[in-house]
Amino acid sequence: MKYYILFGPPGAGKGTQAKFMVEQFNLRHVSTGDLLRREIANKTPLGIEAQKLIENGLLVPDEVVVGMIENLFTSERTSAGFLLDGFPRTIRQAQMLDELLKKNNEEVTKVVSLMIEDELIFERITHRAQIEGRSDDADPAVIQNRIETYHQKTEPLIEYYKERGKYEEIDGNQTIEAVAESIATIM
Ligand code: ADP
Repeated sequence: MKYYILFGPPGAGKGTQAKFMVEQFNLRHVSTGDLLRREIANKTPLGIEAQKLIENGLLVPDEVVVGMIENLFTSERTSAGFLLDGFPRTIRQAQMLDELLKKNNEEVTKVVSLMIEDELIFERITHRAQIEGRSDDADPAVIQNRIETYHQKTEPLIEYYKERGKYEEIDGNQTIEAVAESIATIM
């Protein structure tokens, strides 16, 4: 199985590119954000806990998201592999993912990183708020928290995957089509 990680700050265009990638490369799209929003919509105990954190721009506990990922890995094995979108988001999650895959003699295939500047993050998320109506997109203070959470908790993953020779960076500042083409050349 292939395990691609789609990496980048909030609003980098991960969701948009994921749609192209899953079709082109026969991957199963796994977005921890989408999975959590489903739990919230269904008002599950997990969803109720997650909602408070998400609405403050904070991360959901590592064990919770890794548990969701583990379930998916065992139940959905029909495609050529997985496209992990929004996961891992902390060093601990990356370590737990490595351990999980190692059990089956597997490993992360590649990290595809979409890079954009903080100013552009604001612009894109504010725009998305009008289209998708996500509550965590509506409040500038929450967006700011998500950006800070990204720099503090998630950005260290760049070094983690560089050290392992798995990191590929793409300029997320280009048009949607140009980003998609850049991705296709490194897959
Ligand atoms: P974005 O596109 O803004 O990065 P996502 O849809 O990926 O948003 O995630 C929305 C929220 O869900 C995050 O801000 C975070 O609170 C929570 N979340 C998603 N993935 C994870 C994860 N791997 N670990 C912890 N929290 C997560």
